[in-house]
Amino acid sequence: MQVFRYSQARTVDGAVENVARSGGAFIAGGTTLVDLMKLNVLQPTSVVDINGLPLDRIETLPGGGLRIGALVRNSDLAWNDTVRQQYAVLSEALLSGASPQLRNMATTGGNLLQKTRCYYFRDTNYACNKRQPGSGCAALDGFNRIHAVLGGSEHCVATHPSDMAVAMMALEATVHTQGPKGERAITLDDFYLVPGSTPDRENVLVPGELITHVTLPALPSGTRSVYLKLRDRQQYEFALASSAIVVNVNGGSIQRARIAFGGVGTKPWRSREAEKALEGQPASPETFRRAADAAMASAKPLKYNAFKIELAKRALIRNLEQTTQAA
Ligand code: SF4
Repeated sequence: MQVFRYSQARTVDGAVENVARSGGAFIAGGTTLVDLMKLNVLQPTSVVDINGLPLDRIETLPGGGLRIGALVRNSDLAWNDTVRQQYAVLSEALLSGASPQLRNMATTGGNLLQKTRCYYFRDTNYACNKRQPGSGCAALDGFNRIHAVLGGSEHCVATHPSDMAVAMMALEATVHTQGPKGERAITLDDFYLVPGSTPDRENVLVPGELITHVTLPALPSGTRSVYLKLRDRQQYEFALASSAIVVNVNGGSIQRARIAFGGVGTKPWRSREAEKALEGQPASPETFRRAADAAMASAKPLKYNAFKIELAKRALIRNLEQTTQAA
């Protein structure tokens, strides 16, 4: 690990100013950053601890909806009563991630910024455009079983590892930030970037810009939501394919559907194609299969990961079966 300067921020303004000036990194739970610093994948010369900032509250918004501070721990968010009752998909996604110890440390803001689990990104012996722009991508001709089938490019095919972000994508979350040029509100779909020719840029944050909170809109009454994560082992494992869905069904017809996938995309993947195939249609096996096919129509498999396409389809179909039963 490289030597770095450590400081504690007392205010949001101070944290933003410090990181913008030093080119350093914010640290909260440290569950990603410290690992990657030990591996020399990330080498910030300055680390600004933001744990003392007042960003750790979950609040109901006056018009409905939820405001989640960036420092709310994943465990606290997963077990929050409002989240469990009104945003079940989010609670389930959080509890499917990592281990209890990690969830006790990991924060909402940090979870959104998790780095990929691509083996080649985490091993400095291999070429990786995300770690070192222009160096190549060892995954393209390597063992790419865990990599993306949606959103990849000739420069990078790494998946985004977060479960929480997939649920938030289906919930149409908004990310709120404070940066050197002031505050911004960014829809989660716009927050993440696909790799294109610049896989080192994973989101729209500028240097020094800090996530302060996330908001979730109020959901229509009768909304059902669920998260299903498929992986090689049942605990402490990243998704090979996951499905988050938020649906409203009335009289056997699907009124509203929000669909997102994890484990298959280079970012938490919202599927408007699947939503279009579902809305206004009867909740039937034929509709579900059509939606699943639409969701994966543009998927591009690599040598070892074609199985993910059918896996993701089945995850969506299972969730649709579960949430539309007797609705
Ligand atoms: Fe690096 Fe992306 Fe290629 Fe993995 S897939 S080696 S993260 S460039």
